[in-house]
Amino acid sequence: MTTDLSDLYQQLIVDHNRNPRNFRVPPDANRTAEGDNPLCGDRITLYLHVEDGRVLDAAFQGSGCAISRASASMMTQAVQGKTEEEAGRLFKAFHTMVTSPATAPPDTGDLGKLAAFAGVRAFPARVKCANLPWHTLHAALAAKTERVSTE
Ligand code: ZN
Repeated sequence: MTTDLSDLYQQLIVDHNRNPRNFRVPPDANRTAEGDNPLCGDRITLYLHVEDGRVLDAAFQGSGCAISRASASMMTQAVQGKTEEEAGRLFKAFHTMVTSPATAPPDTGDLGKLAAFAGVRAFPARVKCANLPWHTLHAALAAKTERVSTE
């Protein structure tokens, strides 16, 4: 069962890397943030359209490895329609999951498909790739305009 599940998660990440969702610049974006993971060469620009405390649209541009692209793709899907508070909670939950010890079962809580990234815990260098879009989201939600670096 465990193997089947990780295969499924693997496929999900491969699919989102090949066909990233929300890979565009939304016309009504009113919050942006840039993220940079120099260890891997991942760069992301995140665009949010936030109104009345709700994320109406989320999209991204940039280049990077499969993990960072898939993470950005699935994250933009996950936060659309969420309130800023809910998106912030998702950031915390994701961050906690990918930085928890790989030896323990991951706390996937309400993360749904995002649980696919629990597998990166076994590859410490990849944790920053998976986290980059989320740190960038965190900065965009805080309406910070400076560059985010995982270094
Ligand atoms: Zn990467």
